[in-house]
Amino acid sequence: MTDYNEERILKNQTQSLCNICFHEIHARVVQKRSQVFIQKSCPLHGDFEGLLEKDIDFYLRFAQLKVKGKPFFNGLVIPVTFKCNMSCSFCYTAYQNQADIGLNQLREIIGNFMGRGIYLSGGEPTLREDLFEIISIVKYFGKVCTLVTNGLKLSDKDYVKQLRQAGLDAVLLSFDSFKEETYRLLKISYNNQYDIFKSKKIALENLEKEKIKTQLGITIYPGVNDNEIKDFFIFAMKKRSFVIGLRIRSCVNVGRFGEQKQLFLSELLELFYRQLGLNKKLLLDYFLDKKDDYHNIHHIQFRIRGLIIGESLLPIYCKDNIPNKIISLPYLLKKLGAKQFLKRFIDRLSKGVPLMTCQARIICWPTKENIDLQEVDRGIAHIYGLDKILNFCHAIILLEQQNRRVADK
Ligand SMILES: [Zn+2]
Repeated sequence: MTDYNEERILKNQTQSLCNICFHEIHARVVQKRSQVFIQKSCPLHGDFEGLLEKDIDFYLRFAQLKVKGKPFFNGLVIPVTFKCNMSCSFCYTAYQNQADIGLNQLREIIGNFMGRGIYLSGGEPTLREDLFEIISIVKYFGKVCTLVTNGLKLSDKDYVKQLRQAGLDAVLLSFDSFKEETYRLLKISYNNQYDIFKSKKIALENLEKEKIKTQLGITIYPGVNDNEIKDFFIFAMKKRSFVIGLRIRSCVNVGRFGEQKQLFLSELLELFYRQLGLNKKLLLDYFLDKKDDYHNIHHIQFRIRGLIIGESLLPIYCKDNIPNKIISLPYLLKKLGAKQFLKRFIDRLSKGVPLMTCQARIICWPTKENIDLQEVDRGIAHIYGLDKILNFCHAIILLEQQNRRVADK
């Protein structure tokens, strides 16, 4: 741990948003003890300070990895409707009374977008009667089409089949827990209309049957589902024929979620070390090896290979270009004993069964309190109005303000 006692400036000139009027304002990033803060000043509303990251070493490591150069968005999130058949306490979308976007507007937005990925989101996009047509529009423009859904409608197998036939490439399915009571606790059910966990399990069966690539979207709510990381990994590895990875985000104070109850990215990663028995240094060094768009102070991505033995997962670290290279051998040997380890490992290799792999993206979005606009000029975008695209996080913060204005009237 680096020992810094005094306050020091890490970045003197950047932009952030005013906590009250949401205007872009000057800001700077400072370190105080082991934490990182953004300090900003609005001519109308005064000074603000927001906590950016609790772990200075973690911040410095990932702030350095940010790709420089011209802003570029490789994916675009389009909410095709703001209606929803669920009501989640931590939803990032503010309540919206807007009409659904029209097909001609969609054609124009998708046709003008330079990146490859289109994410159809909401609200709940499956509430659009013309969703299949929307998917074919995305495919017409040669984009990769991902549906961001709570999966309730996907418990209908004919519907999933039609999605595939329309050309859908992938699904990002929100899957926050293996326990029905968690869904009830987070007020996810709408009018208690669904047995949510059961519907999601059936949706997964249907996606597997139609071979639609699926990513599990997990929102971590501290004290509720933050002890299920290992279960998600083991589940994803076992379902690797169609589950392509996990997208795990911390709930943050944005949209409908007004609590300051969040985990910072370093804390989220800490859950992985603890629950999966990962070696912190090995994993962080692995991140540092890959200087690409995927890593920044809000978003990191990695792959874990491992052996699943019974209900436990033994991680085997690997780098992309050296398949199956075991770096954590001492750990494995200690855990299993040399004889057992070798026997199981050789058994697996001799059967030609690959080690199970799972990709994880770990995300902690910035909020109006702590956004550093210089850090969010690439990655995934979100439409703002009908003619503008902004970084996803920037856009959802501004949409929250729009919503507030409507509520004030
Ligand atoms: Zn202001």
